[in-house]
Amino acid sequence: MSTPASPNRRILVVDDNRTIHQDFRKILCPPTANDSLDAMEADLFGQTEASARLPGFEVDSAYQGEEALLLSRNAREQGRPYAVAFVDIRMPPGIDGVETTSRLWKDDPDIQVVICSAYADYSWEEMMQRLGLSQRLLILRKPFDGIEVRQLAYALTEKWELLHRSQLRMEDLARAVDERTRQLAAAHAQITQHQRLKALGRLSGALAHEINNPLSFILANLGYLRSALEGSPPHLGPAEVQELREVCAESTEGAERIRRIIQNIKLFSRLDDAPPTRVDVHEVLEQALGEARNELGPNVQVVREFQAIPRVHASETGLQQVFFGLLANAAQALKESPQPRVRISTYLQEDGRVAVEVQDNGKGIAAEHVNRIFEPFFTTKRMGSSSGLGLSVCYGIVSGLGGDITVDSAPGQGATFRVLLPQAPAPEHLTPLPVRIP
Ligand code: ADP
Repeated sequence: MSTPASPNRRILVVDDNRTIHQDFRKILCPPTANDSLDAMEADLFGQTEASARLPGFEVDSAYQGEEALLLSRNAREQGRPYAVAFVDIRMPPGIDGVETTSRLWKDDPDIQVVICSAYADYSWEEMMQRLGLSQRLLILRKPFDGIEVRQLAYALTEKWELLHRSQLRMEDLARAVDERTRQLAAAHAQITQHQRLKALGRLSGALAHEINNPLSFILANLGYLRSALEGSPPHLGPAEVQELREVCAESTEGAERIRRIIQNIKLFSRLDDAPPTRVDVHEVLEQALGEARNELGPNVQVVREFQAIPRVHASETGLQQVFFGLLANAAQALKESPQPRVRISTYLQEDGRVAVEVQDNGKGIAAEHVNRIFEPFFTTKRMGSSSGLGLSVCYGIVSGLGGDITVDSAPGQGATFRVLLPQAPAPEHLTPLPVRIP
């Protein structure tokens, strides 16, 4: 809805008789000659009877129904709609007042209409049949009384104003409700995602714990076998020794791979919290960028938007792993971008947390994947090429520090990962985080 100057005192008179228009002007817009006298009187004596008399209407004239429709449409387009229309019932040769009213309402459902009729052209029932029972409609019998017209104009413009204000208020409320609903839905999605990740963390943490012990034995035994095969064991020919060495090396490689996965799972489950210190985020970012140089390659433009931020409470190696993980993922997502770019921004949030954003203009993330990317083993990459543990490790490390990690992304729109970290307390208050056992 347009927002006209307030209060809206615009009136449209629709009548084929020119003298009627003069009458309306006389009644609603008293001659200007008196205005200066009234103003002078008001200056001298405060509000006078004359100045309190009328709120100053703006009257426009249409001599046929079609012309009225045109004026009303223009007025709305200019954001200055009419509040009230006084419409004559009979306006030959054009459309009559009832038809004009019904079409005026199609364009502008808010306009208040007074149908002026001298003859019994329509019965009330007929009129209601064509227009429907409406609270926007009044009937005025000709010849009219000036006081009646003034009072109608005043009451109906006030009514229009009140309706308009309540509509604006409703629109504000609807907007506020929409915004709040969106925020709640986002918060709900985040909470359920946190809960799911927490449950997964407990399960995978317990699994990692169970696998760790036998795996240590396997690795130790493989080490023992390897050194036994270094010499030339009796009863075995050189070909058999060579074959056993190869089996041993393959098994060791497999077991090492399992050990790395278990380590990552422990990080995700927050079983491997390194003690936090006061860390300079920019230094760690630079280290991670240096490490990720190969992944990013020479074509990716790296933009730094660093603001002055306080130190954070974190483990330096943990944080480096987080930033490296995000940069490596960005590099992968940028593989087919014509102008690949990574923007790293840091700033202090209003809630006192330090924010680090890693934004890429890569291929983005499909809506159905966004909620799953922090889950362990979730990957969209080729089987075997990726473990799907990178982001779950980032998630585990950041939540272990009392921080948060979120993502904003859409297909083709790149991705922005936001890491929120607590500021470091003053050095004398620094205590290590307790180790959590899931
Ligand atoms: P992996 O990289 O091994 O697949 P991650 O946990 O690091 O595992 O990432 C999970 C998935 O999240 C990826 O397979 C990819 O689909 C998606 N992803 C992560 N970062 C980005 C990014 N910057 N742009 C687009 N997709 C991403």
